[in-house]
Amino acid sequence: MNPRINIDLKKLQNNAAVLTKICKESNIKVAAVTKGFCAEPEITEALVAGGVQQLADSRIENLIKLAHIPVEKILLRLPMLSQVNEVVKYADISMNSELETIEALNKAAEAQNKIHRIILMVDLGDLREGIIDDQELKDALLTIKAFKFIKVEGLGTNLTCFGGVLPSDENLARLIALSKEAESLLGYPMEIISGGNSSSVHLIVDRKIPTEINHLRLGETILLGVESARGNKIEGTYQDAFQLVAEIIEVKVKPSVPIGEIGVDAFGNVPVFEEKGNIKRAILAVGKQDIATHPIFPVDKGMEVMGGSSDHLIVDLTHCEREYKVGDEVTFNLGYGSMLALMTSGYVSKNYIK
Ligand SMILES: *Cc1c(COP(=O)(O)O)cnc(C)c1O
Repeated sequence: MNPRINIDLKKLQNNAAVLTKICKESNIKVAAVTKGFCAEPEITEALVAGGVQQLADSRIENLIKLAHIPVEKILLRLPMLSQVNEVVKYADISMNSELETIEALNKAAEAQNKIHRIILMVDLGDLREGIIDDQELKDALLTIKAFKFIKVEGLGTNLTCFGGVLPSDENLARLIALSKEAESLLGYPMEIISGGNSSSVHLIVDRKIPTEINHLRLGETILLGVESARGNKIEGTYQDAFQLVAEIIEVKVKPSVPIGEIGVDAFGNVPVFEEKGNIKRAILAVGKQDIATHPIFPVDKGMEVMGGSSDHLIVDLTHCEREYKVGDEVTFNLGYGSMLALMTSGYVSKNYIK
């Protein structure tokens, strides 16, 4: 069925194994992040087969989808107050920054007769989630100490998401110092110092990760085989475990510049065109509804993506050696954004390659 996303489970297992090994050499436990592929169980199982020690997702619905897989689970996004019961039931660990929510988790855990573990999030400057003020963190820890059904598993941080701030041995040193303080305030050891996401992997590759960092949450780097700080490939991994296949529904030679007065395109933007004379182009049956405006990369190096509308993608075939015709399939490599969008689209079938 077209369009489809080909998902190579062996390549994904390999990528997970390579990243787990690199991390293990630096004493780092890997939580594989499943939100990039809507936590599809078959893919998740391939990552578990690759050796990842935990699973993590932003959405509790996704952790519920994985409830049958016997691996520890982390909720990445701060819990909604309205979902604390599900969080305690389906997440072993959740990431938190609000006392009000932690108090509600404590109550929910008491009702379920469970200890709920949390990673307390510290904002090191990226300005997404986390406690940014040291005194607030200390006060929070003292309050949490009195919650009988909450255990602080450790401290964590998230970087390179909102503010684009890169992890460094300097900002991570602050996390480590705060973790030591947390231990003395709480009177028990921190199991986890979670030093970020795929943008922390270059620190391991460069052997610059502080030894105290013992945990990372990795999505993109496992799925696409790149570290996200600089976009470098990780040796021994595949970058094409996910590919889009779409079908050609028109091939024609047309002018490169539209004919007539230019208003706005289907999405309200004023399009700009470069005069290249007549060009040979194809229309593919996939569109912005499936991939939004995220980049995709034709495997045929001669092909160029020109643009599209909600259900159409237009590519320039002028420099392709292959003679494309209606009905042909075209394959694209993906970035994180297009992979996420395609996996979420109900119009794109998922084809597992085993
Ligand atoms: C999404 C997310 C991750 C994973 O990010 P990648 O860049 O895909 O590795 C890690 N931690 C948190 C809190 C997240 O929301």
